[in-house]
Amino acid sequence: MEFLINISYIVASVLFIFGIKMLGSADTARKGNLLSSIGMLLAVIVTLLNRDANDGDPLNFTWIIVGIGIGAAVGFVWAKKVQMTGMPELVALFNGFGGLASLLVGWAEFAKKGDFFDSDYPTFTAFAVVFAVLVGGITFTGSMIAYLKLSGKMSGSATVFPGQKALNALVFVALLAFGGIFIGTEAAWALYVVIGLSLALGVLGVIPIGGGDMPVVISFLNSFSGIAASAAGFVILNNVLIVAGCLVGASGIILTVIMCKAMNRSLGNVLFGGFGASSGKAQEVEGEMKPISTEDAFYVLEAAESVIFVPGYGMAVAQAQHAVKELGEILENNGAEVRYAIHPVAGRMPGHMNVLLAEADVPYEQLCEMDEVNAIMETVDVAIVIGANDVVNPAAAEDESSPIYGMPIINVHQAKTVFALKRGQGAGFSGLVNTLFFRDNTRMIYGDAKATMNNLVGQFKD
Ligand code: NDP
Repeated sequence: MEFLINISYIVASVLFIFGIKMLGSADTARKGNLLSSIGMLLAVIVTLLNRDANDGDPLNFTWIIVGIGIGAAVGFVWAKKVQMTGMPELVALFNGFGGLASLLVGWAEFAKKGDFFDSDYPTFTAFAVVFAVLVGGITFTGSMIAYLKLSGKMSGSATVFPGQKALNALVFVALLAFGGIFIGTEAAWALYVVIGLSLALGVLGVIPIGGGDMPVVISFLNSFSGIAASAAGFVILNNVLIVAGCLVGASGIILTVIMCKAMNRSLGNVLFGGFGASSGKAQEVEGEMKPISTEDAFYVLEAAESVIFVPGYGMAVAQAQHAVKELGEILENNGAEVRYAIHPVAGRMPGHMNVLLAEADVPYEQLCEMDEVNAIMETVDVAIVIGANDVVNPAAAEDESSPIYGMPIINVHQAKTVFALKRGQGAGFSGLVNTLFFRDNTRMIYGDAKATMNNLVGQFKD
């Protein structure tokens, strides 16, 4: 039986790995997701059949079925209801629940046994419990704060106060100390202190991080939830949980590093830099924003030989991707070279713009990465910015005092003409003023991005 269980776990792990690999491309992502889900179903079924997991006693299926029923119903309704733009918030919540589950597994195992002195490796098991509880607790409350900030239920600006770093360091050292006491004595009170402190550290650790950095934090906490799950796997000696936790931990940290690189910042700066604390400050910008009508914009586009679309969060809000593609085709048929430039953190989740443009069947070869497109920007006749703001803010390249200084941007300001499509004077996610909109070569086309796109398409058709 044990042999069969371990073989099934290996099959499940292989399915996870192939599933993750397939998530790397938009064509295979759905199949990859399905494959990984099948792997998880197999792992769950095999674990439920494993009597050894409950010290030889049959499992109490009533509670398990009730748990699966409630969890599946909530997950199903939530996943169906969520808008594409709300996806990062949902991921934050799921990460948090993953962390909470690991905390509860560690705690329950200790509560069930009383102590681990009878087990083969008492110190190791107690260590695994502390680790699962500590990382799980930080992940839970940290993710809840990330959720509240992203969903706007809590202010997105960084909350900083004097002595904050010292306080966080103190809580962390206390956590290690009480964790050490628990490992040495297996006193229940020490575990409760570890639980309380880890929950507090999750809150204290995420409040000083600005809303603009939440995607990185979520990815980082996603990695944490994997590490916590892996530790829980060591507590209950479940191989597939250890493997799955490691996969989540490793992929989360890789994504975190990729996102930090895309913003030209270190992880330390994101986590401890207090970025966004001053985002509410009004900035002085010379010049004024110059509007243009879609009729006049049409004449410029009709004469353009090269056009670059730069989508951002506003395109997702307006669901303008199909209209954008239609205008792209019209411009191509009119003789222009058309490209789509995608910034790695455009929108509200990694790959957000790729997903939307793929949904609209934009040809893959027309999608360009930031570096590629920046190299030719000066030769571009018109750059059309569709609801993008932070990712095209020249302050990131030019203004050393700007909080986003150093973040790589798409240099649309170097194009001959820029059309910026947005509804009004609204700021981007960072809350900063965008100097692009005040440039001599920029014209604002106000209105919902989809309506504006359809209007431009209409002008070409008339
Ligand atoms: P921004 O959030 O900087 O700007 C979006 C702009 O879209 C706003 O200025 C808004 O202006 C405009 N807009 C909103 N709705 C519409 C609409 N219906 N039609 C036209 N325009 C609209 O977006 P970017 O994509 O440039 O930058 C992404 C930001 O989000 C970065 O700061 C990034 O760090 C952050 N982020 C990224 C995540 C990711 O993983 N990609 C996740 C979470 C945050 P107005 O109100 O005037 O219309």
